[in-house]
Amino acid sequence: MSHRILLSPPHMGGSEKKYVEDAFNSNWIVPMGPNINGFENDLEIYFKNEKKILCVSSGTSSIHLALNLSDVKNGDEVLCQSFTFAASANPITYLGAKPVFIDSEKDTWNMCPKTLEKAINDRIDFGVKPKAIIVVHLYGMPAKIDKISSIAKKYKINLIEDSAEALGSSFKQRKCGSFGDYGVLSFNGNKIITTSGGGALICNSIEQKNKALFLATQAKDNAPHYQHSVIGYNYRMSNVSAGIGRGQMEVLDKHVQLRRNNNEFYKNLFRKIEGISVFEEYNKDFFSNHWLTCITIDKNKCLLDNNQLRILLEKNNIESRPLWKPLHLQPVFKNCTFYGTGVSEYLFNNGLCLPSGSSLKKFEKEKISKIINNAFK
Ligand SMILES: *Cc1c(COP(=O)(O)O)cnc(C)c1O
Repeated sequence: MSHRILLSPPHMGGSEKKYVEDAFNSNWIVPMGPNINGFENDLEIYFKNEKKILCVSSGTSSIHLALNLSDVKNGDEVLCQSFTFAASANPITYLGAKPVFIDSEKDTWNMCPKTLEKAINDRIDFGVKPKAIIVVHLYGMPAKIDKISSIAKKYKINLIEDSAEALGSSFKQRKCGSFGDYGVLSFNGNKIITTSGGGALICNSIEQKNKALFLATQAKDNAPHYQHSVIGYNYRMSNVSAGIGRGQMEVLDKHVQLRRNNNEFYKNLFRKIEGISVFEEYNKDFFSNHWLTCITIDKNKCLLDNNQLRILLEKNNIESRPLWKPLHLQPVFKNCTFYGTGVSEYLFNNGLCLPSGSSLKKFEKEKISKIINNAFK
């Protein structure tokens, strides 16, 4: 079997093992301890000490906590970007609430502010005010977060920013994940940095963080015995995983730069090929970590469409992947309300994600170039 080029494999910096060894040497093999405190501290410094950050077991669990803290309950509605991974919306259903899906706009591929406002007014007319908004910075591209956040403020609806793919991205020099009432990070194996599996909840105050910590550690009341007045979760990060996170923080900026270099590489590669566009920042306000580089292919102008290109790459042992299937088109969400104009459906039908790991080697890029240049000659 020849060498496989992966979409977004883990990329260790070097000192992760040292922190993991510290955990073993001190016997902090539990979901608390020095690595968790250190990792949270590193993340808080990264967010300029303006935020309080709680490390948890996954990005999904941090969305669940954010919805809980936004008082989302059985029967409530939550507005959620349709063009995203299912994990953005699944926790809405854990609480018995209903997702209402919002389409994307073309500039950022993320939640369309106009459609969002229309949906809010429509839901209010219908007699149900949405409890929260989940906006996503998909593929690391910042959403039009200034507009979305002012709409959220105008209607007094909590904003949850799913930055699972956008650690290191910013809008107008301000970091993604820091705009909402809550921000969400993921350290899953395929993300910009990894703890093998993990996530974080970005909070605006120590009170929010303490509430989240209480829920994430089984909601134990203050008593000598175990006493519970509300339902809690077991969502804390392991101190072993957090050690990997501390090591990864040392290379975060470098890895963002490497992913951005990949995006430059693809822009140069496709420049000469008519009908293929590489997704890039709409203007200088947007700074993407380019977690994954994505392209769209105009079927009428190209020899291969997105699916044919994916199969060709696969034959050459190169992993690529269709863009996220919009959630309003997923069988499991087929009964949910959707507001949109067809943008996310177009992207799904015509797009492709290309190998984008920060460890992508020169010889791998050369192989990709050769295959692409031959295919679209
Ligand atoms: C990965 C991801 C999540 C979920 O994060 P996990 O850590 O895998 O639970 C949520 N939203 C988006 C957009 C993601 O890409």
